Amino acid sequence: MERPFLTESHEIFRKSLRKYLEKEVIPHFEQWEADHQVPRSYWKQLGELGFLCPWLDEEFGGMNADFGYSVVLGEELEKVGTGISGPGIHNDIVMPYINSYGSEEQKKKWLPRSTTGDIISSVAMTEPGTGSDLAAIKTTAVREGDHFIINGEKTFISNGYTTNFVVLVCKTNSTAKAAHNSISLIVVDAIDQDVPGFRKGKKLNKMGQHSADTAELIFEDCRVPVENLLGEEGKGFYYLMEKLQQERLTVAIGAMTAAERMLDITVEYVKQRQAFGKSISKFQNTQFKIAEMATQIKIGRTFVDDLIVKHMSGEDIVTEVSMAKWWTTDMAKKVAAECMQLHGGYGYMEEYEIARRYRDIPISSIYAGTNEIMKVIIAKNMGL
Ligand SMILES: Cc1cc2nc3c(=O)[nH]c(=O)nc-3n(C[C@H](O)[C@H](O)[C@H](O)COP(=O)(O)OP(=O)(O)OC[C@H]3O[C@@H](n4cnc5c(N)ncnc54)[C@H](O)[C@@H]3O)c2cc1C
Repeated sequence: MERPFLTESHEIFRKSLRKYLEKEVIPHFEQWEADHQVPRSYWKQLGELGFLCPWLDEEFGGMNADFGYSVVLGEELEKVGTGISGPGIHNDIVMPYINSYGSEEQKKKWLPRSTTGDIISSVAMTEPGTGSDLAAIKTTAVREGDHFIINGEKTFISNGYTTNFVVLVCKTNSTAKAAHNSISLIVVDAIDQDVPGFRKGKKLNKMGQHSADTAELIFEDCRVPVENLLGEEGKGFYYLMEKLQQERLTVAIGAMTAAERMLDITVEYVKQRQAFGKSISKFQNTQFKIAEMATQIKIGRTFVDDLIVKHMSGEDIVTEVSMAKWWTTDMAKKVAAECMQLHGGYGYMEEYEIARRYRDIPISSIYAGTNEIMKVIIAKNMGL
């Protein structure tokens, strides 16, 4: 299929990424899933090969690459397995906060190291008591001289167990009239140092995406210099809203890639599996299920590719991205269930990729804003 935002250069980039993944990642992937962790060397290698934040300006070590390269990266990592997508979060979700809202000094300090694998970044919004209702967070940062004193707890943080660089969402003003005007973003920089009062909590035991680390982060009288405030105090909520378009688009791109992969492996399987003296691909039920899934995937792919083009040209497509996020992730979950069914008993066995895909996909309708919250946004933007 012609994809309007991809040029020959993107395909060359894809080829070299795939070559790296085939040689250095795929042979170890099952072990990383069993370890519930990707090794540090994976980040370092991605950095050495130019796969970390390639969109950054050259002065910061990037390649000025457009979002099409991020799409290629997201797709190729997802094809191997959702669990190795932590660098995608770093590239397209966390480091853009520094690039957009950081001071010149902050950018010079942190951006070059985000391309080398020195920084494993995370964004910490969710707390044990609140996820969807961001304005209800309890983590506070109180100014004391040249430092913020931070207290609170974050949970479900992607890259959290290995992170050394946290974009922390917290309240700097508990007296603000509107709760969302009290939210600020503060960088907890633990790259080459221990940060007093900051520690990792439990590494969380997830049902899927095993090689991705997800953890609790704990702040107890944690001292962070005031110069680590990102952008203006009290503007954190607006910064998050601005960046969520890209975050949710990357989730839709991941869901589409996963759905396509699940269909591909299922088509292969039904062709070779025999029952009642013929290939199960010859049963009308199998053909109809495959035809239905192929149709939905085609519709989703057309929609998401169109949104990628619009996003790349700087359009405000918050409503459409919310639509794509809920629809593609719901669709991919249904595809996972149908594909597992077509695998019969083998689909339930861990040796078969569909079993892992079935475990990995459900969270996509929950993280980056639940699908219910996507519908709240769509309805609100329709004036309801
Ligand atoms: C693997 C994983 C990785 C994650 N990574 C990160 C990360 O890197 N950083 C981070 O900050 N967070 C992360 N999260 C957290 C994730 O974004 C939240 O779990 C999500 O936003 C939902 O919040 P919650 O779990 O508190 O659910 P709740 O907000 O308690 O929601 C529970 C249910 O109520 C529904 N609900 C809530 N409000 C409404 C409403 N107004 N209308 C209708 N229904 C509603 C929800 O849709 C959901 O079905 C991650 C989570 C997981 C599991």
